Order: sequence, then structure tokens, then C-alpha cells
Amino acid sequence: MTDTRTPLLQVSGVEKSFGEHRVLRDISFEVLPGTVTVIIGPSGSGKTTVLRTLNALDRADAGVISIGEVSVDFAAQMDRSTLARFRAQSGMVFQAHNLFPHKTVLQNVTEGPVVVQKRPREEARADALALLTQVGLEDKANQYPYQLSGGQQQRVGIARALALKPKLMLFDEPTSALDPELVGEVLRVIRDLATEGWTMVIVTHEIRFAQQVADQVLFIDGGVVLERGTAKDLLTNPTGPRLRQFLHRIL
Ligand code: ADP
Repeated sequence: MTDTRTPLLQVSGVEKSFGEHRVLRDISFEVLPGTVTVIIGPSGSGKTTVLRTLNALDRADAGVISIGEVSVDFAAQMDRSTLARFRAQSGMVFQAHNLFPHKTVLQNVTEGPVVVQKRPREEARADALALLTQVGLEDKANQYPYQLSGGQQQRVGIARALALKPKLMLFDEPTSALDPELVGEVLRVIRDLATEGWTMVIVTHEIRFAQQVADQVLFIDGGVVLERGTAKDLLTNPTGPRLRQFLHRIL
């Protein structure tokens, strides 16, 4: 049966070059609300750039990206307010947390809602404490980032992105900078978000994790979506030679 839900994210014909280097070619895909899309592919294939275009951290040269009600045609002129509205639709979690070092965990999580979204401080604080509980760090609220492990810092980074109440969560290799023993706690938090129904796009090399959470997998190679399908089709029973070779190398 075809799914008739309206996609939360629609990406159509996205192109991106850095100078002469064409990094993304005609990237198109859709993400249904409440689903998890995992992007895999060799190093340098354009995965991070795809994610960054979804948040306009890198501006696509052409293509249309719609998130919820906000649609942007990157080949056309756009005003600042449209771009700001577009950016506010998604929250990004980076490889390294980049928390404010001189602010406490709680201040890190409330900063965006209070300063950017002008929400009342008390309300932002209550929300932040609930989010810290969700990521298992309620007892760290008054500590500073340097007092936390890398995994804990990354979980604060997730709470900070969630605090802005985005429609779509983007994760760029969220565990690749972590010591192996800290990877599990971060993946667990992301898995819980999937269970709660968050819509997420995740770039990761953690194939077993992808098998557990992904509703959809995109295999990107040379700036092109070479394969797109379910986790079962792409990861458990891959048929395409490039994808098989890639999985063989990393598993
Ligand atoms: P991946 O995430 O799959 O490793 P990236 O999206 O980071 O790949 O990079 C894709 C290509 O674009 C690489 O060749 C990379 O060197 C290049 N690239 C990425 N960001 C920039 C940039 N800001 N300036 C120039 N080249 C870049």
C-alpha cells in the first residue's frame, strides 16, 4: 500500500559546488513525519553537505527544499526572514558538541530558547530540565561542559537542539568523535527519540544502529543518491555492487 502521508521534508534537485568541485548532484528524497532516515556512504561522498543544506548551513546552488510549511527555492532570491524561518524548522547535532564552555549545562540548553526565541526564562528552564531528564542528565544541570564525559556532552548537545522545538532533527555523525565505550549511551538517546516519533535524518557509520532505527536509508556516493530504500533492502540484503563493497569495507 502506498503511504499517503504528506512528507515533512521534501528535497528536490539539490545541487552544490564548492568552487569548481561539484559536491552534490540532483539530490532528491522525501522524509515522512515520524520516521528516521539514515544517510550512509564513503568519506567525502557528500553526506555532511546534504545535511548542512537541509539547515542552510551550506546554501544549495539550486534545488527546492521544503520542511513543513516552509519551502525554499535555492536558485531564486530569498529574503532573510524566509531563510531564518527555514533554518528554524530543523535542529542540528554535530560531531562534536560545541557547547558554550563558560556556561552550565542548564544555561547551554536554555540559551537558544531565551535569547533566540525570546521565550520566558522560567518556561525555558522547566523545559530544559525535562529535556535533561530525557537524556539522563538531570543531575548535571549545574555542571560545566569540561566536567562531563564526551558522551554526556553530546547528550547535552542533543537536549540543546531539542529545546528549540524543531520539526526535524539532523545528526551529523553524532558518535564519530567519541571513545567506543561512550557511543552506546548517545545512540540510546537517539533511539528513544525515534520511539517518541521524532522525525530525524542521521549521517552515521554505525550500521547496526541504522538497521535498528532507520525507516529509510540513503546510500550516497560521489554526490549522488545511488540507492534509497528500507534498512532491510539496503543493509541486510544489499544488491548494488558499490553499496555491497562499501558495507563490506566497514562491517
Ligand atoms: P562526507 O560527509 O560524505 O564525508 P562531505 O559532505 O563532508 O562528505 O564533503 C564532500 C566533498 O565536499 C568533499 O570532497 C569535501 O572535501 C568537500 N567540501 C565539504 N565542505 C567543503 C567546504 N566548505 N569547502 C570546500 N570543499 C568542501
